[in-house]
Amino acid sequence: MVERLSWKKLAWELAFFYLPWLVVGGLFGGLPWLLLGATVAMLLWHLHQQIKLSDWLWKDKSLTPPSGTGSWEPLFNGIYRLQKRNRRRRKELANLIRRFRNGAESLPDAVVVFERDGAIVWCNKLAQELLGLRMPDDNGQHISNLIRAPEFVSYIANANANANYDTALEMRSHLNSARTLEFRTMPYAEGEYLMVVRDITQLKQLEGMRRNFFANVSHELRTPMTVLRGYLEMTEDPDMLVGPMWPKAHGVMTEQLSRMESLVEQLLTLSKIEAAAKPDLDHHVDVPAMLDVLQKEAQALSGNSEHVLTFDVDTALKVRGNDDQLRSAISNLVYNAVKHTPAQAEIQVRWYRSKKGPRLEVIDSGEGIPPQHLDRLTERFYRVDKARSRETGGSGLGLAIVKHALSHHDAELDIKSEVGIGSTFAFTLPERLAC
Ligand code: ADP
Repeated sequence: MVERLSWKKLAWELAFFYLPWLVVGGLFGGLPWLLLGATVAMLLWHLHQQIKLSDWLWKDKSLTPPSGTGSWEPLFNGIYRLQKRNRRRRKELANLIRRFRNGAESLPDAVVVFERDGAIVWCNKLAQELLGLRMPDDNGQHISNLIRAPEFVSYIANANANANYDTALEMRSHLNSARTLEFRTMPYAEGEYLMVVRDITQLKQLEGMRRNFFANVSHELRTPMTVLRGYLEMTEDPDMLVGPMWPKAHGVMTEQLSRMESLVEQLLTLSKIEAAAKPDLDHHVDVPAMLDVLQKEAQALSGNSEHVLTFDVDTALKVRGNDDQLRSAISNLVYNAVKHTPAQAEIQVRWYRSKKGPRLEVIDSGEGIPPQHLDRLTERFYRVDKARSRETGGSGLGLAIVKHALSHHDAELDIKSEVGIGSTFAFTLPERLAC
């Protein structure tokens, strides 16, 4: 164990060094010359140690110091200890920074650190994707030069001027206008700010959908309610109740009430399916028996229109799933085919085992749907021809119900249609649900 240098140690070292020369000089004479020679030798030795130290510090990259002797040994070892401590601290710091960066990388949001003057210090990978920044190339670049949207530039300028970053900024992405981004900035370290950017496109879409949904429901209910109110006001005149108008009024009111009833029922079905957790797909659903009942109901719905209904069903093909949801999905598809197909036209329903799994197809020879509508058909309240759909008592919720019910069974609605030729609405359940 090397101790640190002390006056006592230095004094002993000097004494040991000069003692032999003093003795020799005392015995044989020439003491001053001997002392001078000894001092020069000591000076040269010290200079040699200094060179060794300097070489080690500047040239040699190794951590272990050269072996120092005498009074230089504690100095070499002291520097070695200092270096070791610094290396350990540097390693700890590097680990800390790595941990912070890993943490920031695994955040679901984009993160940018920048200085008060706007110079970018660091950003995570998501920021590079979402904001188009590049690291390390953009290090030191002014953030407003890279995100040039005027709202963003004035947001940064205002916040800088007032030193107030409390408000968040919502704006369309400067890279992709279909995306909406939310920027939040907060003081981070001295003179540095942390900006968190979230993609809130979906949130905004949901907000829009919710707003539209309420507007649509209100609109759908308002029409029958207005009709009912009109007739009710007419009944204030007692003659009306016995007059020739009454049977017609009664009929229309009943019809409007059933329209409202069916709308509310469909809304409840939809909200029940939407709110339901994914069903445990262990219940056996007898789809052939379900189709048997549906065939009779569809025939009744067709009434005087006398559609030609063909049900081609694999009677042995049952599946696992949720009975109510599958019935809702299949009945909506079959009823739609009846509602949107002219009288006496053919409608074919097929239930069979395809290569990918149990498949249902409802093929009609109806009016068909123009291609621009196909992607939107499963949106709530979406109807190709609003006026006609209302005539047939449609609410525009049927296919939204189908979509949700199928997604609970890991299946998707597949729509093919050609105007004037007909439409095919189909889905394939995963093979694992077949039983
Ligand atoms: P609706 O209650 O109006 O039938 P849906 O959500 O079931 O609502 O259907 C949405 C729209 O899709 C309908 O208004 C109709 O325009 C169109 N559609 C659905 N099925 C068919 C079909 N078999 N043939 C033609 N158009 C259809």
